[in-house]
Amino acid sequence: MNSDHLSKRLQTVVRFIPIGSRIADIGSDHAYLPCHAVKKGIATFAIAGEVAEGPYRSALKQVQIEGLTKNISVRKGDGLEVVEPGEVDCVTIAGMGGTLIADILERGKEKLSDVKRLILQPNIGAISIRKWFLENGWMLISEEILEEDEKIYEVLVAEKGDPYTSYEENLESGLLLGPLLQTKQNESFRKKWTIEKAKWERILHQLEQAAGKPEILQKKEDLLNKISLVEEALK
Ligand code: SAM
Repeated sequence: MNSDHLSKRLQTVVRFIPIGSRIADIGSDHAYLPCHAVKKGIATFAIAGEVAEGPYRSALKQVQIEGLTKNISVRKGDGLEVVEPGEVDCVTIAGMGGTLIADILERGKEKLSDVKRLILQPNIGAISIRKWFLENGWMLISEEILEEDEKIYEVLVAEKGDPYTSYEENLESGLLLGPLLQTKQNESFRKKWTIEKAKWERILHQLEQAAGKPEILQKKEDLLNKISLVEEALK
């Protein structure tokens, strides 16, 4: 992968950046995404944020090599602390767990007042982000699920608004599976949840052999609940 040839996963993220945006890409690593978005004329300005020294240096080097230092500011720091209020109108965070992404949003909330769109690509645990949207007034406007190199990724796109409008009936199932993905149910969606369900069934089987401590009973109940939510959705 390089900034001219992004992975399918990052291309999907870029597809949701409105033309003319000022973006912050948090956890940018090599800064391929902001370099691509600026070169394609999608973003007019970008911040590439990185918390770790190695990736921060890679991002700096990439932006210099590509001659993009006028349009891309590479900054070292934790999450949204690298952004000043009002500097950007779109934030992308890709390639991390959903809990970490939700934590970055929670800790950087005050930086989001002028941000119009969030484009988030959790590797796992998208439910944490959907819950954060509910608690913070962000409405899911689009969701994608795709497979690349035998891994399945979700991309969540949100704007400010009533978060509950994205959910039709079963909130619990929508939070777990994605309310918009659940409606579309493409091949990747069905594959992901068939695999997850089989994994939970295996764990459940192992727990059946364990002693009935209260925490084990609770774990079994949680697994049974998730299995039934998935069975209902995949019917
Ligand atoms: N966004 C790129 C992508 O999707 O290909 C890189 C993903 S890489 C797996 C995750 C990056 O996030 C790492 O470079 C890591 O240093 C960075 N990261 C993790 N936590 C972070 C935080 N709190 N703030 C900024 N960057 C963070």
